[in-house]
Amino acid sequence: MSEAAKPENERRKFRAIKGTRDILPPDSALWNWFEKTARGVMEAYNFGEIRTPIFEETELFARSIGGETDVVSKEMYTFADHSLSHLEWMRNTILVRRSSHDDPIDVNILIQLVDSFVSHAEAATSEGEMPKTSDNARALDRLRALSDRTATFLVPQTAAMGKEEFELYANQIRAAVGALKFGDLITLRPEATASVVRAYIEHGMHTRPGDQKLYYIGPMFRRERPQKGRYRQFYQIGAEVLGTSDAPAIDAELIQMLTDLLERCQIEKYTLLINSIGCPDTPERKGCRPKYVELLRAKLREPEIFSKLGADSQRRVETNPLRVMDSKLPEEQAIIEKLPKISEHLCADCREHYEKLKKELKLREVPFTESPRLVRGLDYYMRTTFEITSPILGAQNALCGGGRYDGLVEMLGGPKGIKGIGFALGEDRLIDAIQEAKKVHATRTVDVFVAWMGERAYPTAVRLAHVLREEKHTVELPPDEMKFRKALERADKMGARYVLIIGEDEIASDMLTIKRLLDGKQEKISEEALVDFFRPPVLTKEGPGS
Ligand code: AMP
Repeated sequence: MSEAAKPENERRKFRAIKGTRDILPPDSALWNWFEKTARGVMEAYNFGEIRTPIFEETELFARSIGGETDVVSKEMYTFADHSLSHLEWMRNTILVRRSSHDDPIDVNILIQLVDSFVSHAEAATSEGEMPKTSDNARALDRLRALSDRTATFLVPQTAAMGKEEFELYANQIRAAVGALKFGDLITLRPEATASVVRAYIEHGMHTRPGDQKLYYIGPMFRRERPQKGRYRQFYQIGAEVLGTSDAPAIDAELIQMLTDLLERCQIEKYTLLINSIGCPDTPERKGCRPKYVELLRAKLREPEIFSKLGADSQRRVETNPLRVMDSKLPEEQAIIEKLPKISEHLCADCREHYEKLKKELKLREVPFTESPRLVRGLDYYMRTTFEITSPILGAQNALCGGGRYDGLVEMLGGPKGIKGIGFALGEDRLIDAIQEAKKVHATRTVDVFVAWMGERAYPTAVRLAHVLREEKHTVELPPDEMKFRKALERADKMGARYVLIIGEDEIASDMLTIKRLLDGKQEKISEEALVDFFRPPVLTKEGPGS
């Protein structure tokens, strides 16, 4: 039975997928206002927008974010990019099938399945639907050989084959079937830095003059446990500076741009935390961060410290001791406070970079708090690290995270010596913060509601609605005739500012009636005077304002 034919209580209702949500009017007005404001601020700093695809090769994220992180190990939306569902089905059947060596029918089914799988896979390869990689060619050759051999050996004297020998065959078939790659693994982007860097390298943007200053706005996807302020599809606004210089002024300007943006949103309650996390090893010299990490690890291994750590931190002592500094567990805080701080172990160059950064921030009158515990667990992050938190957000208080990643471009196959710094700001949380701060009120208003009555009035109503829309006014034109009182009520509910009344009288007298809803004041004007009537200052578009 079709859905429409079912009784209403049996009809399926769809809901947005867990962790995703709809942003509806009037809330969407604030999102639009914020995005426009963000673009304005970033463009004032000469950043240009970059739009990258929403999905990329899984490998790009695995390499850049790092397989050890939660994002890559369990939160990515990843899928094989192909349309070979019939082959996938056959493959799964072959993989799970357990045939017994002494049952000719059973074995025959397996042989036919493999045979058919091979011919479908070969057809898909020649039609370009399956990647023509050398691994795939090898797996197909192997399968063809196995199925030929199986056919000649097993049919019809199946029982002649010993159980072990048959198991070996079946395993070889499964291995070859499993080794075939139907399509690339792709992932919905969990963040955008990797994509920006990929695009920078792909388009040889290092050959363009000066630093590349790029910003992006868009959705990111992570399979996190949903809660307030944490979604599976969320929005980030971010910026990256890529180029040969790592001058602290670049870092300071990027941070200033961010605080400018928060100020435009009139969010006062936020803290900018900064730190330097030193530098990694290079072929020329040992970096100060690895040295510090060793020191930290040695300290954390001391039994009286180690025994007081939780299981996660204990594991991280070996895998990534910097992340122990990140711990939010209340019982670990006293221990962490006493651990050596990276700021006390920076090399001369990193210390100088950090001191200059602070000077540059002061020059720009950007208030900051030093946070020696602020770290990034990934190898390519270095030196400047920053975060913005806001107490008005509750548990998920991080608004924005950022830092320098001088090694990333090279790590992703780009030219040597290109440095980078960037930030990502959580738009969902920022919107929450704007709403909490209650300073900015963005609304969309209907400027003119056209109340038309009578068939003769309709063509005039359509024409005048268009004239006003061309003047950029927001105009509501009811599709069906409404009684005058009803129309007024509707206009009032919509929050319209004016009602343009076009009825029989107006048509007969060639004069229009305009009613201002604020005070009910009504006046008559000619059609020629209409456009001028609504020109500012009568209808200045109010931006969101204070
Ligand atoms: P990250 O890329 O993890 O450094 O995140 C940067 C910013 O994005 C955070 O400070 C948050 O404001 C925001 N963010 C990260 N994950 C989520 C999420 N699941 N839901 C909403 N916002 C998020």
